[in-house]
Amino acid sequence: MPIFEYRCKGCQHEFEALVRKADVPECPSCKATDLERLLSLPALKTETTKAQAMKAAKARDKAQGTERTIEQLKYERSHND
Ligand SMILES: [Zn+2]
Repeated sequence: MPIFEYRCKGCQHEFEALVRKADVPECPSCKATDLERLLSLPALKTETTKAQAMKAAKARDKAQGTERTIEQLKYERSHND
């Protein structure tokens, strides 16, 4: 779940909030929902990069697995004749 950093436009209070897709966070100080999202959290960047690396690695493993299966099938077919 992503953590975003916000600044309240009403009272300038800055805070971090865990935000699910449909959630609208509110200022813990004045309860306003008129917020500016700040995109300067390095932790979020790292998390995104890690997730992308994992995804790429999984896709690579899957591709290699498929290749191996095809090679195996070819091998079995050519030796069944
Ligand atoms: Zn506020």
